[in-house]
Amino acid sequence: MTPDWGLIERQLRSLLPPRGVVAARQELLAYDCDGLTLTRHQPRLVVLPETTEQVVAVVRCCAQLNVPFIARGSGTGLSGGALAEQDAVVIATSRMRRVLNLDLENQRVTVQPGVINSWVTRAVAGEGFYYAPDPSSQVACSIGGNVAENSGGVHCLKYGVTSNHVLELEVVLPDGTVTTLGGGLPEMPGLDLRGVFIGSEGTLGIATAITLRLLRAPETVAVLLADFPSMEAAGEAVRRVTGAGVLPAGMEMMDSLCIQAVDDYFGVDEYPRDAAAVLLIELDGHALEVKDSVELASRLCLEAGAGGVRQAWTEEARTRLWKGRKSAITALGRQYPSYYLQDGVVPRTALPGVLAAIEQLSGEHGLPVANVFHAGDGNLHPLILYRAGDPGVNERVKALGGEILRLCIEAGGSISGEHGVGSDKRCYMDWMFSPDDLASMQLVRRAFDPDGLANPGKIFPTPKSCGESLGRLVELKVRGVELPADALVF
Ligand SMILES: Cc1cc2nc3c(=O)[nH]c(=O)nc-3n(C[C@H](O)[C@H](O)[C@H](O)COP(=O)(O)OP(=O)(O)OC[C@H]3O[C@@H](n4cnc5c(N)ncnc54)[C@H](O)[C@@H]3O)c2cc1C
Repeated sequence: MTPDWGLIERQLRSLLPPRGVVAARQELLAYDCDGLTLTRHQPRLVVLPETTEQVVAVVRCCAQLNVPFIARGSGTGLSGGALAEQDAVVIATSRMRRVLNLDLENQRVTVQPGVINSWVTRAVAGEGFYYAPDPSSQVACSIGGNVAENSGGVHCLKYGVTSNHVLELEVVLPDGTVTTLGGGLPEMPGLDLRGVFIGSEGTLGIATAITLRLLRAPETVAVLLADFPSMEAAGEAVRRVTGAGVLPAGMEMMDSLCIQAVDDYFGVDEYPRDAAAVLLIELDGHALEVKDSVELASRLCLEAGAGGVRQAWTEEARTRLWKGRKSAITALGRQYPSYYLQDGVVPRTALPGVLAAIEQLSGEHGLPVANVFHAGDGNLHPLILYRAGDPGVNERVKALGGEILRLCIEAGGSISGEHGVGSDKRCYMDWMFSPDDLASMQLVRRAFDPDGLANPGKIFPTPKSCGESLGRLVELKVRGVELPADALVF
C-alpha cells in the first residue's frame, strides 16, 4: 500500500518540537546526497530530533506505518550511506550535539550522536586528553556517523579505528525499543553486540548516546615530511620504516597531483612542488623514544631515496606540515569541480604495484586520479577527478572505480577500508563474500530489523540494485532462509 505522506508528516510534526520536520522541496535539497555527489535522491521528509525520546517516537511512528527511515549525521559519508534512495524519513542528528557526561578519572565521555568528531578532543584537550580516531573530515563529521562507518583516520595506524574507542552505545532499535550495547568497561562478557553495531551503517538502528574512550595526550609529538622522486620510493620508505619496528601514530602519502594542487591553493612551502610523492610521518610518545624514532625514520627515508626530510617539533610547525595533507581534497576541488573518492585496502607491501596499476587505468580511462592516503595501513584513497555533466562521465567514473577495487581484491585487499559500503559498493560485495556469507550477515540484520526498515538496501546486494544476486536470493528464500523484508525488494 502506498504510504500517505500527508498523514506521516502530520504525525511526525505532533511528535517533534517546532521546526523539527523539514518538508519543503527546496530545503530538502540539502539532504539529497552525502559526500558521494555522483548519486542524488531527495528524501520525502527529514526530521530533526533533539533527544533519545524523540528518536524513539519517530522510529515507532515509522514502524507502525511501515515506512523506512535513514539515520543521517553530517552527511560527509563517501559511500552513499545516508542517501534516501527510496521514499523514506531521514532522521538527522544535527540537533543532538550535547556532551552528556564527562568522566575524566575513568577516561571516558558520553556524547549525543550529532557531536562533531573534533569537538570531543576540543572539550578535553585542556585537561591533557584527546579522542584518537581522526578522520580527515573530523571538523564536520559526527560521532554517530563515525560509529556507523567504523571510521578511521590518520592516527588509526597506531591507535586503531572507531571500534577500538567506543565503550557503550545507547541504540534505538527499528521497532522503537531502546537498548544498551557494550558497557562502561573495556571488556564485557557475552556476545559483542556493540562490535556488531559499529560499522553497520545505520542498518541495525540509530545510536543515540555514545560513550567514548579518551586517551592521555602524548608527552612529545614530532612530524616528518619526506619528499620522493617516485611513488615507488615513497612506498619503499613505508616498508622500511614499518619493517624496522617503528610504529608511527600516522603515516600518510600524497602524489604529485595533490602536491601541486596544495601548492597552487595554499602555497605550502614545505611541500616541494616537483616531488613525485611526499610522506608525512607522525611519531609520538616519551621524548627520548620519539627522538630515536625520528632519527631512525629520517635515515630510512633517505636510504629509500628521499630528496630531503623536514622535521617539525612545535605545534605550529606540525600544523604547517599537516596543512597540505588535511586540505588536499579541498585544494583538488578547486581545480576539478567533481571527484569520486574511492576507498580500498591492500597489504602495505602491495602498495607500489597497485599504485602503478591505478596510474595505468587512469590513462586508459582518460580520467585523472590523485592519490592521498593512509599509507601505513595500506588504505588507498584514489580520487577520480571529473567534470559533472560531461556526457557519459558518471558511468566512466563508476567503471574506473570498480576496476580499482578489483585491483585491491586481487592484491589481497578489500573494497573498503573506512568509508563503508553504503549504496555505492554493495554490488561489489559478492566479489569478496559468498552468497552464504551474505545470507549469514542478513540473518544478523534480521534479528535487529525483521521488517527491513532501517536504511534499507544499503551494504547488501539486492535484486533491485544488483540484478545478478536475484537468482541466489530466490534460492535462499526457497530454502526457507528468513531474510529481512527489504532483501527481495525489486
Ligand atoms: C573530505 C573528506 C575526508 C574524509 N576522510 C575520512 C577519513 O580519513 N576516514 C574515514 O573513515 N572517513 C573519512 N571520510 C568519510 C566520512 O567523513 C565518514 O564516513 C564519517 O564517519 C561520516 O560521518 P557523518 O556524520 O557525515 O555521517 P553520514 O554521512 O551522515 O552517515 C554515514 C552513515 O552513518 C549512518 N548514521 C549516521 N548517524 C547514525 C547514527 N546516529 N546511528 C546509526 N547510524 C548512523 C548513516 O545512515 C550512514 O549510513 C571523509 C569524508 C570527506 C568528505
